Amino acid sequence: MKKIIALLTIGLFFSCNSSAQKKETKSEKVFPVTKTETEWKNELTAEQYYVLREAGTERPFTSALNKEYREGTFHCAACNTPLFKSEHKFDSGTGWPSFDREINGNVDFSTDYNLGYARTEEHCATCGGHLGHVFNDGPRQTTGKRHCINGVALKFVPEK
Ligand SMILES: [Zn+2]
Repeated sequence: MKKIIALLTIGLFFSCNSSAQKKETKSEKVFPVTKTETEWKNELTAEQYYVLREAGTERPFTSALNKEYREGTFHCAACNTPLFKSEHKFDSGTGWPSFDREINGNVDFSTDYNLGYARTEEHCATCGGHLGHVFNDGPRQTTGKRHCINGVALKFVPEK
């Protein structure tokens, strides 16, 4: 019986969630951490601002985090929310830090057409900062997903 109640609750949550998402567009969405563009410009480096706030893409193989394989957590460079774990990082060969999954709930997704076709964009669920995109050519033995993330949008926190 407990199991059924739990399932019903999950069902309710998802249906509420999806109807809420249909109503809101990305620009209307209010993130828990919201700052003006001037505030972000003052806090972030030019490169971080370009990626996180303008959905830019860093040049491949430029991020030191591309080859960061120590144990730890990758946090949002703008608001410090933990987004990815080192155990889910893999070398995709693309020149961008790649993960097979996010820390559930801390990353949000949308669709962008910036290159003329649909791509799954991902951003920090706390501040809305753009992180990268998700593709379906990740490691098949795990999730099959490749979260292709700009290193400049991340801050690595090694395990103590
Ligand atoms: Zn953030």
